[in-house]
Amino acid sequence: MASYNKITPEIAAQLRAVAGNRFYINDGVDPNYSHDEMPIYGKHMPEAAVDVETTEEVSEIMKICSANRIPVTCRGAGTGLVGGCVPLAGGLVLCTKRMNKILEYDMDNLVVRIQPGVLLKDLAADALAHGLMYPPDPGEKTATVGGNISTNAGGMRAVKYGVTRDYVLALTVVLADGRIIELG
Ligand SMILES: Cc1cc2nc3c(=O)[nH]c(=O)nc-3n(C[C@H](O)[C@H](O)[C@H](O)COP(=O)(O)OP(=O)(O)OC[C@H]3O[C@@H](n4cnc5c(N)ncnc54)[C@H](O)[C@@H]3O)c2cc1C
Repeated sequence: MASYNKITPEIAAQLRAVAGNRFYINDGVDPNYSHDEMPIYGKHMPEAAVDVETTEEVSEIMKICSANRIPVTCRGAGTGLVGGCVPLAGGLVLCTKRMNKILEYDMDNLVVRIQPGVLLKDLAADALAHGLMYPPDPGEKTATVGGNISTNAGGMRAVKYGVTRDYVLALTVVLADGRIIELG
């Protein structure tokens, strides 16, 4: 594994300046952030965690961590089965669960714009309430759509409708160095 640095009090202060009381360190970190739903990957506590609320916060946090060689593990709802959100290298867990807003529907083009922490079950129900169907339907409905996109989740309806990637038209992405890019 690559060598990383520890989160010093100075770095913690920088991260706290970005996220305030949504930045947690040491004993303040939720123990659930140490694992996903597959026990074989074990439990690995990060040094710190942050519940982000905006793209700009993610960008600022990534700039700080990149400049200081702090490993960052992104986490949605932690329902994964392949250890993707398990912070094996320690460092910082960056959780998107508070970015859970469904922003707008474009009914002319049957498109919805959402934040990454929206839960699959909430998007599916909200789309239905708008007379639409969101087809991707993996078994775990409390996963975030960001996690579904990252894992390209499928499910029973994939045979007829395709998988998550077939329903993503555009993404706002924060790169490891904090740059924000628009895709699609
Ligand atoms: C009971 C059960 C049934 C399931 N059934 C199916 C199924 O039928 N078909 C199927 O395909 N899958 C299935 N899955 C797996 C499911 O697709 C994943 O659990 C889900 O997609 C992960 O979403 P999450 O929000 O929990 O992500 P997490 O587990 O938190 O993270 C998963 C990965 O996504 C990354 N990630 C999360 N959010 C972001 C983001 N915003 N930006 C960048 N990276 C991000 C994480 O770093 C990690 O690598 C099932 C899982 C369970 C527990």
